Amino acid sequence: MAPVLILLGPPGAGKGTQARMLEEDFGLIQLSTGDLLRAAVTAGTPAGRQAKAVMEAGALVSDDIVLAILKDRMIQPDVAKGIILDGFPRTAGQAAALDLLLAETGQKITAAISLEVDDAAMVGRVSGRHTCAACGEGYHDEFKRPAKAGVCDKCGGTEFKRRADDNAETVRGRLSAYHAQTAPLIAYYDSKGVLERINAMGPIADIRTALGQIVAGIAA
Ligand code: AMP
Repeated sequence: MAPVLILLGPPGAGKGTQARMLEEDFGLIQLSTGDLLRAAVTAGTPAGRQAKAVMEAGALVSDDIVLAILKDRMIQPDVAKGIILDGFPRTAGQAAALDLLLAETGQKITAAISLEVDDAAMVGRVSGRHTCAACGEGYHDEFKRPAKAGVCDKCGGTEFKRRADDNAETVRGRLSAYHAQTAPLIAYYDSKGVLERINAMGPIADIRTALGQIVAGIAA
């Protein structure tokens, strides 16, 4: 059965960065509801128009919208390789809906991996981040600069973008939303026997190794 991995953690924990690395290391597909929502906002779809203001305020988009957008993505054939859910589920309702969705296709959660971090460091981590406009590779002003300033290591692109919600004030709201609505899922997945925890405060490469060991152990 293809792996279904969930990455849990507050904004700035490194879910997106590590999901992209797991794609490279294990051939899995990253499904980021944040990315899917941002694409809907950019495309100006009805869901995107509804989500825009909520996202800019750092609050959670309604379960209905998020689930509709995720279901559309999960019918694409590439997800058969196995998926890494990044930023989903974020509420108890989403977790229950995911269980149902997977049960319908005879799948189940392989592991929910909690990236454990200190909240105090997250505002700085999120505020400095940006991505290559061409390929989406993630960078950080302090922690992950391209080898050659202004040039993407991956694709040579020279344009970078920053998310509208990656500012200190919005990050604080996103952290509150995480603690109120998402952190309880850690206990939920623990009770289902699929929870793994890793310390995600160290260097990106060390976390990649720790995560790789967990995933290799589970997928074996
Ligand atoms: P992210 O890229 O995961 O940091 O998500 C950015 C923003 O998109 C969040 O602050 C929410 O407003 C929205 N969002 C992303 N995923 C979800 C989700 N699973 N449920 C509700 N809102 C979400």
